[in-house]
Amino acid sequence: MFGAFVVLGDMVAARSGDDACGASCTFEAMDNQSYDAMLTTEQIDGAIIGLLVGDALGVPYEFHPPGRIPHPHLIEFAPPAGFFRSHSGVPIGTWSDDGALALCLLASLVECNELNVDDLASRMTRWLNNGYMAVRNQVFDVGIATAEAIESLDAGADPMRAGRTDEMSNGNGSLMRVLPLALWHRGSDAELARDAELQSRLTHGHRRSRLCCALYVLWARRTAAGAADPWLDAADTLMEIHADDHEALEELEEAIRPYEERAVSGSGYVVDALHSARWAVEQGPYEVAVKAAVSLGNDTDTTACIAGGIAGLRDGLDAIPSRWRNGLRGREILDPLLAAFHSQRAAG
Ligand SMILES: [Mg+2]
Repeated sequence: MFGAFVVLGDMVAARSGDDACGASCTFEAMDNQSYDAMLTTEQIDGAIIGLLVGDALGVPYEFHPPGRIPHPHLIEFAPPAGFFRSHSGVPIGTWSDDGALALCLLASLVECNELNVDDLASRMTRWLNNGYMAVRNQVFDVGIATAEAIESLDAGADPMRAGRTDEMSNGNGSLMRVLPLALWHRGSDAELARDAELQSRLTHGHRRSRLCCALYVLWARRTAAGAADPWLDAADTLMEIHADDHEALEELEEAIRPYEERAVSGSGYVVDALHSARWAVEQGPYEVAVKAAVSLGNDTDTTACIAGGIAGLRDGLDAIPSRWRNGLRGREILDPLLAAFHSQRAAG
Protein backbone atom coordinates (compact mmCIF):
# COMPACT_ATOMS: atom_id res chain seq x y z
CA MET A 1 0.00 0.00 0.00
CA PHE A 2 2.84 2.39 0.76
CA GLY A 3 5.17 1.40 -2.07
CA ALA A 4 3.84 3.97 -4.50
CA PHE A 5 5.18 6.72 -2.29
CA VAL A 6 8.78 5.56 -2.46
CA VAL A 7 9.18 7.39 -5.75
CA LEU A 8 7.88 10.59 -4.20
CA GLY A 9 10.30 10.21 -1.32
CA ASP A 10 13.21 9.77 -3.71
CA MET A 11 12.17 12.80 -5.73
CA VAL A 12 12.05 14.92 -2.63
CA ALA A 13 15.39 13.66 -1.40
CA ALA A 14 16.96 14.37 -4.78
CA ARG A 15 15.40 17.78 -5.12
CA SER A 16 16.15 19.06 -1.65
CA GLY A 17 19.85 19.13 -2.39
CA ASP A 18 19.32 21.44 -5.34
CA ASP A 19 17.18 24.00 -3.58
CA ALA A 20 18.45 27.30 -2.37
CA CYS A 21 19.17 26.54 1.27
CA GLY A 22 16.69 28.13 3.67
CA ALA A 23 16.36 27.54 7.39
CA SER A 24 14.83 24.11 6.83
CA CYS A 25 18.02 22.73 5.26
CA THR A 26 19.45 22.33 8.73
CA PHE A 27 16.75 19.81 9.46
CA GLU A 28 16.85 18.10 6.07
CA ALA A 29 20.45 17.18 6.70
CA MET A 30 19.57 15.24 9.83
CA ASP A 31 19.29 11.46 9.66
CA ASN A 32 16.35 9.56 11.11
CA GLN A 33 18.11 8.89 14.38
CA SER A 34 18.52 12.62 14.86
CA TYR A 35 14.80 13.19 14.54
CA ASP A 36 14.15 10.69 17.30
CA ALA A 37 16.93 11.97 19.52
CA MET A 38 15.31 15.40 19.52
CA LEU A 39 12.41 14.14 21.58
CA THR A 40 12.66 13.74 25.33
CA THR A 41 10.24 11.87 27.59
CA GLU A 42 9.30 15.25 29.05
CA GLN A 43 8.38 16.55 25.59
CA ILE A 44 6.37 13.46 24.64
CA ASP A 45 4.41 13.46 27.89
CA GLY A 46 3.98 17.22 27.56
CA ALA A 47 2.55 16.80 24.06
CA ILE A 48 0.15 13.93 24.81
CA ILE A 49 -1.03 15.21 28.18
CA GLY A 50 -1.03 18.72 26.74
CA LEU A 51 -3.49 17.73 24.04
CA LEU A 52 -5.68 15.74 26.46
CA VAL A 53 -5.78 18.54 29.04
CA GLY A 54 -6.55 21.08 26.30
CA ASP A 55 -9.41 18.89 25.09
CA ALA A 56 -10.77 18.40 28.62
CA LEU A 57 -10.44 22.12 29.38
CA GLY A 58 -12.44 23.04 26.29
CA VAL A 59 -15.28 20.52 26.66
CA PRO A 60 -17.52 22.56 29.04
CA TYR A 61 -17.20 25.66 26.83
CA GLU A 62 -17.91 24.04 23.45
CA PHE A 63 -20.46 25.70 21.12
CA HIS A 64 -20.42 29.04 23.01
CA PRO A 65 -19.58 32.18 21.00
CA PRO A 66 -16.45 34.02 22.17
CA GLY A 67 -18.53 36.74 23.86
CA ARG A 68 -19.94 34.18 26.29
CA ILE A 69 -16.62 32.59 27.23
CA PRO A 70 -15.44 33.65 30.72
CA HIS A 71 -12.36 35.82 31.18
CA PRO A 72 -9.20 33.72 30.79
CA HIS A 73 -8.41 33.74 34.52
CA LEU A 74 -11.77 32.04 35.10
CA ILE A 75 -11.31 29.37 32.40
CA GLU A 76 -10.74 26.17 34.36
CA PHE A 77 -11.92 22.55 34.16
CA ALA A 78 -14.92 23.65 36.24
CA PRO A 79 -16.46 26.79 34.66
CA PRO A 80 -17.53 29.65 36.94
CA ALA A 81 -20.89 29.48 38.69
CA GLY A 82 -23.75 30.44 36.43
CA PHE A 83 -22.02 29.47 33.20
CA PHE A 84 -24.21 27.27 30.99
CA ARG A 85 -21.94 24.27 30.69
CA SER A 86 -21.87 22.10 27.57
CA HIS A 87 -21.86 18.32 28.04
CA SER A 88 -23.08 18.86 31.58
CA GLY A 89 -23.45 15.12 32.13
CA VAL A 90 -19.73 14.57 31.58
CA PRO A 91 -17.50 14.94 34.66
CA ILE A 92 -14.96 17.74 34.44
CA GLY A 93 -11.45 16.73 33.40
CA THR A 94 -12.69 14.29 30.74
CA TRP A 95 -11.18 14.18 27.27
CA SER A 96 -13.63 13.87 24.38
CA ASP A 97 -13.51 12.39 20.86
CA ASP A 98 -10.35 14.39 20.08
CA GLY A 99 -8.33 12.80 22.86
CA ALA A 100 -9.77 9.31 22.42
CA LEU A 101 -9.01 9.24 18.69
CA ALA A 102 -5.49 10.59 19.23
CA LEU A 103 -4.94 7.76 21.71
CA CYS A 104 -6.33 5.27 19.16
CA LEU A 105 -3.62 6.46 16.76
CA LEU A 106 -0.89 6.32 19.41
CA ALA A 107 -1.90 2.81 20.51
CA SER A 108 -1.96 1.62 16.91
CA LEU A 109 1.49 3.05 16.19
CA VAL A 110 2.95 1.55 19.38
CA GLU A 111 1.44 -1.90 18.93
CA CYS A 112 1.97 -2.21 15.15
CA ASN A 113 5.22 -0.22 15.05
CA GLU A 114 4.06 1.15 11.70
CA LEU A 115 1.20 3.22 10.37
CA ASN A 116 -1.26 0.41 9.69
CA VAL A 117 -4.47 1.98 8.44
CA ASP A 118 -6.47 -1.24 8.81
CA ASP A 119 -5.49 -1.50 12.47
CA LEU A 120 -6.24 2.20 12.99
CA ALA A 121 -9.65 1.77 11.35
CA SER A 122 -10.36 -1.15 13.69
CA ARG A 123 -9.46 0.90 16.77
CA MET A 124 -11.55 3.87 15.64
CA THR A 125 -14.50 1.53 15.13
CA ARG A 126 -13.99 0.12 18.62
CA TRP A 127 -14.00 3.67 19.95
CA LEU A 128 -17.33 4.57 18.34
CA ASN A 129 -19.01 1.25 19.17
CA ASN A 130 -17.50 0.39 22.55
CA GLY A 131 -15.77 3.47 23.92
CA TYR A 132 -12.25 2.16 23.42
CA MET A 133 -9.81 4.88 24.64
CA ALA A 134 -12.74 6.92 25.99
CA VAL A 135 -12.80 7.62 29.72
CA ARG A 136 -15.07 5.01 31.34
CA ASN A 137 -15.97 3.95 27.79
CA GLN A 138 -18.26 6.97 27.47
CA VAL A 139 -18.37 8.36 23.91
CA PHE A 140 -19.73 11.86 23.41
CA ASP A 141 -19.19 14.77 21.02
CA VAL A 142 -18.80 12.82 17.77
CA GLY A 143 -18.20 14.79 14.55
CA ILE A 144 -20.60 14.08 11.70
CA ALA A 145 -17.96 13.29 9.06
CA THR A 146 -16.02 11.15 11.51
CA ALA A 147 -19.09 9.17 12.54
CA GLU A 148 -20.15 8.57 8.93
CA ALA A 149 -16.68 7.46 7.92
CA ILE A 150 -16.25 5.13 10.89
CA GLU A 151 -19.63 3.58 10.20
CA SER A 152 -18.52 2.89 6.62
CA LEU A 153 -15.24 1.44 7.92
CA ASP A 154 -17.24 -0.78 10.23
CA ALA A 155 -19.19 -1.96 7.16
CA GLY A 156 -15.94 -2.91 5.42
CA ALA A 157 -14.97 0.20 3.47
CA ASP A 158 -11.38 0.63 2.28
CA PRO A 159 -9.69 2.93 4.86
CA MET A 160 -8.05 4.86 2.02
CA ARG A 161 -11.49 5.73 0.59
CA ALA A 162 -13.59 6.02 3.73
CA GLY A 163 -13.27 9.79 4.26
CA ARG A 164 -15.35 12.05 2.05
CA THR A 165 -13.45 14.07 -0.55
CA ASP A 166 -15.86 16.92 -1.28
CA GLU A 167 -14.80 20.44 -0.37
CA MET A 168 -17.51 20.82 2.27
CA SER A 169 -16.05 17.87 4.19
CA ASN A 170 -13.09 19.78 5.61
CA GLY A 171 -13.76 19.70 9.33
CA ASN A 172 -10.98 19.40 11.88
CA GLY A 173 -11.60 15.72 12.71
CA SER A 174 -8.42 14.26 11.26
CA LEU A 175 -6.25 17.19 12.40
CA MET A 176 -7.25 16.84 16.05
CA ARG A 177 -5.92 13.29 16.34
CA VAL A 178 -2.71 13.36 14.27
CA LEU A 179 -0.10 14.58 16.79
CA PRO A 180 1.04 11.10 17.98
CA LEU A 181 2.29 10.45 14.46
CA ALA A 182 4.83 13.28 14.80
CA LEU A 183 6.03 11.90 18.14
CA TRP A 184 6.39 8.31 16.91
CA HIS A 185 7.74 8.89 13.39
CA ARG A 186 11.44 8.42 12.59
CA GLY A 187 11.23 8.92 8.83
CA SER A 188 12.09 11.91 6.67
CA ASP A 189 9.94 15.03 6.54
CA ALA A 190 8.42 13.82 3.28
CA GLU A 191 7.55 10.44 4.82
CA LEU A 192 6.06 12.08 7.90
CA ALA A 193 3.96 14.41 5.73
CA ARG A 194 2.83 11.49 3.56
CA ASP A 195 1.75 9.43 6.56
CA ALA A 196 -0.12 12.40 8.04
CA GLU A 197 -2.11 12.56 4.81
CA LEU A 198 -2.74 8.82 4.89
CA GLN A 199 -4.19 8.81 8.40
CA SER A 200 -6.48 11.68 7.40
CA ARG A 201 -8.02 9.66 4.59
CA LEU A 202 -9.85 7.38 7.03
CA THR A 203 -12.29 10.17 7.88
CA HIS A 204 -11.28 13.26 5.88
CA GLY A 205 -10.14 12.54 2.34
CA HIS A 206 -10.10 16.05 0.84
CA ARG A 207 -6.58 17.27 0.05
CA ARG A 208 -7.07 20.37 2.21
CA SER A 209 -7.65 18.33 5.36
CA ARG A 210 -4.80 16.00 4.48
CA LEU A 211 -2.36 18.88 3.95
CA CYS A 212 -3.39 20.58 7.19
CA CYS A 213 -2.47 17.34 8.97
CA ALA A 214 0.89 17.33 7.17
CA LEU A 215 1.58 20.95 8.08
CA TYR A 216 0.69 20.25 11.70
CA VAL A 217 3.02 17.28 12.15
CA LEU A 218 5.89 19.21 10.56
CA TRP A 219 5.10 22.13 12.87
CA ALA A 220 5.28 19.69 15.78
CA ARG A 221 8.58 18.23 14.59
CA ARG A 222 10.14 21.69 14.22
CA THR A 223 8.76 22.72 17.61
CA ALA A 224 10.37 19.68 19.23
CA ALA A 225 13.65 20.55 17.54
CA GLY A 226 13.58 24.08 18.90
CA ALA A 227 13.48 25.78 15.51
CA ALA A 228 13.50 29.58 15.67
CA ASP A 229 10.18 29.77 13.80
CA PRO A 230 8.70 26.24 13.76
CA TRP A 231 5.55 27.21 11.85
CA LEU A 232 7.39 29.06 9.09
CA ASP A 233 9.94 26.29 8.83
CA ALA A 234 7.18 23.68 8.56
CA ALA A 235 5.38 25.70 5.87
CA ASP A 236 8.58 26.09 3.85
CA THR A 237 9.27 22.36 4.13
CA LEU A 238 5.78 21.37 3.01
CA MET A 239 5.98 23.74 0.03
CA GLU A 240 9.31 22.19 -0.94
CA ILE A 241 7.97 18.64 -0.59
CA HIS A 242 5.12 19.47 -2.96
CA ALA A 243 7.02 21.75 -5.35
CA ASP A 244 5.86 19.61 -8.31
CA ASP A 245 2.37 18.80 -7.01
CA HIS A 246 0.07 21.41 -8.49
CA GLU A 247 -3.01 20.26 -6.56
CA ALA A 248 -1.17 20.51 -3.26
CA LEU A 249 0.34 23.90 -4.11
CA GLU A 250 -3.05 25.27 -5.07
CA GLU A 251 -4.55 24.14 -1.75
CA LEU A 252 -1.60 25.53 0.20
CA GLU A 253 -1.46 28.87 -1.60
CA GLU A 254 -5.18 29.56 -2.03
CA ALA A 255 -6.90 27.85 0.92
CA ILE A 256 -4.48 27.04 3.73
CA ARG A 257 -2.28 30.12 3.22
CA PRO A 258 0.30 29.34 5.89
CA TYR A 259 2.20 32.60 5.36
CA GLU A 260 -0.77 34.80 6.25
CA GLU A 261 -1.83 36.02 9.68
CA ARG A 262 -5.51 35.20 9.50
CA ALA A 263 -8.46 36.35 11.57
CA VAL A 264 -9.27 33.23 13.59
CA SER A 265 -12.53 32.04 15.14
CA GLY A 266 -11.97 28.61 16.68
CA SER A 267 -14.46 27.06 14.28
CA GLY A 268 -14.63 23.45 13.14
CA TYR A 269 -13.22 24.25 9.67
CA VAL A 270 -9.85 22.57 9.41
CA VAL A 271 -7.96 25.62 8.10
CA ASP A 272 -9.42 27.89 10.77
CA ALA A 273 -8.70 25.28 13.45
CA LEU A 274 -5.06 25.10 12.44
CA HIS A 275 -4.58 28.87 12.25
CA SER A 276 -6.49 29.30 15.52
CA ALA A 277 -4.13 26.85 17.20
CA ARG A 278 -1.13 28.67 15.77
CA TRP A 279 -2.44 31.96 17.14
CA ALA A 280 -3.13 30.42 20.55
CA VAL A 281 0.30 28.81 20.83
CA GLU A 282 1.90 32.17 20.08
CA GLN A 283 0.06 33.89 22.95
CA GLY A 284 2.36 32.48 25.64
CA PRO A 285 3.27 29.44 27.75
CA TYR A 286 1.05 26.34 27.93
CA GLU A 287 -1.60 27.67 30.32
CA VAL A 288 -1.93 30.95 28.43
CA ALA A 289 -2.05 29.13 25.10
CA VAL A 290 -4.87 26.72 25.91
CA LYS A 291 -6.90 29.42 27.64
CA ALA A 292 -6.44 31.58 24.54
CA ALA A 293 -7.70 28.68 22.42
CA VAL A 294 -10.81 28.29 24.57
CA SER A 295 -11.38 32.06 24.55
CA LEU A 296 -12.03 31.89 20.80
CA GLY A 297 -15.23 30.01 21.58
CA ASN A 298 -17.05 27.63 19.21
CA ASP A 299 -15.10 24.34 18.85
CA THR A 300 -13.22 25.04 22.07
CA ASP A 301 -12.15 21.50 22.93
CA THR A 302 -10.64 20.83 19.52
CA THR A 303 -8.87 24.19 19.23
CA ALA A 304 -7.40 23.72 22.71
CA CYS A 305 -6.47 20.12 21.90
CA ILE A 306 -4.62 21.10 18.71
CA ALA A 307 -2.91 24.06 20.42
CA GLY A 308 -2.30 22.18 23.67
CA GLY A 309 -0.41 19.41 21.94
CA ILE A 310 2.07 21.84 20.40
CA ALA A 311 2.35 24.02 23.53
CA GLY A 312 2.92 20.94 25.70
CA LEU A 313 5.56 19.67 23.30
CA ARG A 314 7.26 23.07 23.30
CA ASP A 315 7.08 23.75 27.04
CA GLY A 316 7.23 20.22 28.49
CA LEU A 317 5.12 18.38 31.02
CA ASP A 318 6.05 20.62 33.94
CA ALA A 319 4.55 23.63 32.17
CA ILE A 320 1.09 22.04 32.38
CA PRO A 321 -0.46 23.20 35.67
CA SER A 322 -0.51 20.39 38.22
CA ARG A 323 -4.18 21.07 39.06
CA TRP A 324 -5.02 20.10 35.49
CA ARG A 325 -2.64 17.14 35.30
CA ASN A 326 -4.04 15.82 38.58
CA GLY A 327 -7.61 16.53 37.55
CA LEU A 328 -7.38 14.72 34.22
CA ARG A 329 -9.53 11.58 34.25
CA GLY A 330 -8.62 8.40 32.42
CA ARG A 331 -5.08 7.94 33.74
CA GLU A 332 -5.74 4.18 33.86
CA ILE A 333 -5.93 4.33 30.04
CA LEU A 334 -3.22 6.89 29.46
CA ASP A 335 -0.41 5.80 31.78
CA PRO A 336 0.06 2.21 30.47
CA LEU A 337 -0.02 3.49 26.89
CA LEU A 338 2.61 6.15 27.55
CA ALA A 339 4.75 3.55 29.36
CA ALA A 340 4.51 1.21 26.37
CA PHE A 341 5.49 4.03 24.02
CA HIS A 342 8.53 4.93 26.12
CA SER A 343 9.58 1.27 26.32
CA GLN A 344 9.35 0.94 22.56
CA ARG A 345 11.49 4.04 22.08
CA ALA A 346 14.06 2.86 24.63
CA ALA A 347 14.31 -0.47 22.81
CA GLY A 348 15.13 1.43 19.62
MG1 LIG B 1 -14.41 16.94 21.09
